[in-house]
Amino acid sequence: MPEKEVVILRIGHRPERDQRVTTHVGLTGRALGARGMYLAASDKGVVQSIVDVTARWGGEFFCSDNVKWRSCIKDWKAAGGVVVHLTMYGLNLPDIIEEIRPQAKILIIVGAEKVPGEIYGLADYNVAVTGQPHSEISSLALFLDHLFSASELKNEFYGAQIRIIPSKAGKRTEEL
Ligand code: SAM
Repeated sequence: MPEKEVVILRIGHRPERDQRVTTHVGLTGRALGARGMYLAASDKGVVQSIVDVTARWGGEFFCSDNVKWRSCIKDWKAAGGVVVHLTMYGLNLPDIIEEIRPQAKILIIVGAEKVPGEIYGLADYNVAVTGQPHSEISSLALFLDHLFSASELKNEFYGAQIRIIPSKAGKRTEEL
């Protein structure tokens, strides 16, 4: 796994409608090299889904709900980390990624429907993955891929119960 400590902060989650998307934010972060996800809402269903996937597919990804986003950002910065907020209003990814890449400790904020205006000022970097509206899942995936220069596609997930044997056709898996 990469040396960088990259963690996601998911804000604005509405349990009645965002469960699937928030779970996919976590799974995307896990698959593409993040260490964990803080969820600024209470949702044990999301936490359990991500914990279950990690138990079966390996790695050490964590998921914590009930996180207070202001103190999460404050504590992260106090520990020497930088904060990246993914927003279509920010600086475009290719124009800023070289400056962010050397950072060792990165908190990535993604929103749901509406992001409080305060977040834009608290972030060290407001980063756009194009200036077009799309999704927290796609913006996170592209940001991580650029951050890790695609090396995350070769990550190993230790302690897995199952692994896929890449195949040209069909589905092959191995129980470990
Ligand atoms: N309309 C909402 C707003 O003004 O905050 C945005 C909702 S969007 C579905 C949810 C999240 O996806 C955003 O908070 C942002 O993190 C991410 N997102 C969407 N498009 C993006 C883009 N072009 N670049 C970076 N992040 C983006």
